[in-house]
Amino acid sequence: MTDGDDTSIKKMAELLRSGATMLAQACPQCGSPLMKVGDDIYCASCDRRIVIIGSEEEAESHTVKAILPELREPLLTRLKKLSEMIETEERTEELTKIANLMVLLLQALEKLDGFGSSH
Ligand SMILES: [Zn+2]
Repeated sequence: MTDGDDTSIKKMAELLRSGATMLAQACPQCGSPLMKVGDDIYCASCDRRIVIIGSEEEAESHTVKAILPELREPLLTRLKKLSEMIETEERTEELTKIANLMVLLLQALEKLDGFGSSH
């Protein structure tokens, strides 16, 4: 265990003792559980407040937004691979499978963009 971990755990324990609650959400930066201190959301590991957001539901969508770029990357990589497969694939059945998969990936990307542009 590093000093940093030890400090953040101590800080979390202190916060809990002073009436803070642990949230189910994780910090978008480091993945540590977030603490709710009064009306503020705090990450003991990053030692900073997480920008406050009206409701927990909104907080969730903000967390989703934080990881959107990471989600896009593998989808795009996969799409590229599939489009290469389509070029060489001769069997209709396989082509159908690939095409269906591509549609699903495109729908996923579209959803991601929807998240990104809302609010
Ligand atoms: Zn953090």
